[in-house]
Amino acid sequence: MEKILISSCLMGNPVRYDGKDNGLTDACISQWLSQGRLLVFCPEMAGGLVTPRAPAEQQGDRVITHEGVDVTREFRLGAELALKLASEHGVKLAILKAHSPSCGSNQVYDGGFSRTLIEGNGLTAARLKQAGIKVFTELELDQAQAFLRQLEG
Ligand code: SF4
Repeated sequence: MEKILISSCLMGNPVRYDGKDNGLTDACISQWLSQGRLLVFCPEMAGGLVTPRAPAEQQGDRVITHEGVDVTREFRLGAELALKLASEHGVKLAILKAHSPSCGSNQVYDGGFSRTLIEGNGLTAARLKQAGIKVFTELELDQAQAFLRQLEG
């Protein structure tokens, strides 16, 4: 059975920078959970950050908080640990929170803290994609389900 790496905040865990969550209620998530497929992970917490924490955005190849603190090291460590967990379980598919500087896929905030989106990937999403893992956001659950069906024939 294929395992799926999923952002912890999408599972209702209050690990976001503001101490909140992004819990999903979709039936497929409940099904995957009951099947024991889900590997629930927050790269920012794993990288050593705490919640609540200052919001951060990517600025070039760095990640900087709203207060100007460079947290690139923690974000990179979280990305490496996400890949390590995924590799240990042979993960081919991840569902990661859209727009996050760690988890965002294809679109992230531009670094100006004005909620302006630009093309790009969060550090963890980029690391997983480099390793050949297919990344979907919570807005692409239908595509994720189709990809899973394809994997499992
Ligand atoms: Fe959610 Fe990812 Fe941010 Fe953690 S790093 S709170 S899992 S979006």
